[in-house]
Parts: sequence; structure tokens; C-alpha cells
Amino acid sequence: MTDVIEMHLKLLFDLDNLIADMEEPAYKKIGFKIEDEASLELIRKRNQLLKKLPEELGQIYEILKRRYRQAIAPVESEFCLGCFQKLPTELATRSKEIITCPNCGRILYWRKK
Ligand SMILES: [Zn+2]
Repeated sequence: MTDVIEMHLKLLFDLDNLIADMEEPAYKKIGFKIEDEASLELIRKRNQLLKKLPEELGQIYEILKRRYRQAIAPVESEFCLGCFQKLPTELATRSKEIITCPNCGRILYWRKK
């Protein structure tokens, strides 16, 4: 995928993790509430980011997020780090295309060296 899409996707992923963390009981105990204005602002931000993604990618992301919570996974030495399966050689290099793992379906990204 392109750098801009990848950047938006990772930001969205980070925000979703933050929002999910705030829903954890441990956070609630120290006073975080998902109804707080700051939390609502995070949710607004993530929805804006979602709209910036190509529509099809946004839909895939939302479906995967419901299934796994972590919808995206980095590739390391030709392995998907979402499910720890080796990727077929033709998928194992970074490309402009949006690549999903053939095993778990997560959207794959390559860490910048
Ligand atoms: Zn996978």
C-alpha cells in the first residue's frame, strides 16, 4: 500500500488500541471513562481517519477489527506476525498493493528499516 494509506492505517490502529485500553477495567479503576469528552474526541478522530482510507480497505479493517481486535500485522522475515504463518513468496515483499495474510486475513504492513 502507499505510504500515506499506511500512515493513516497505523494511526487508526493506534487510536483503536488506545480506545480499547480505556475500556479495560484497570483503566476505569483509575478514573478513565469512555464517556469522557477526551474519549469521544478520540472516537471522532478514528472515524475521520477511517474515512480517509480507500472505502474497501476501511471495510476490511472494520470486519477484521471485530474478529481480532488487531486488524493489521507487520511482516517479519516473510512471516505474518498476526498468525505466525510463513507467507507465500509472491506475497512476502512490500508492494504498492494492499496485501492481506492468506491465512488469518489481517492487513499486512512492512516495518521501515
Ligand atoms: Zn496472518
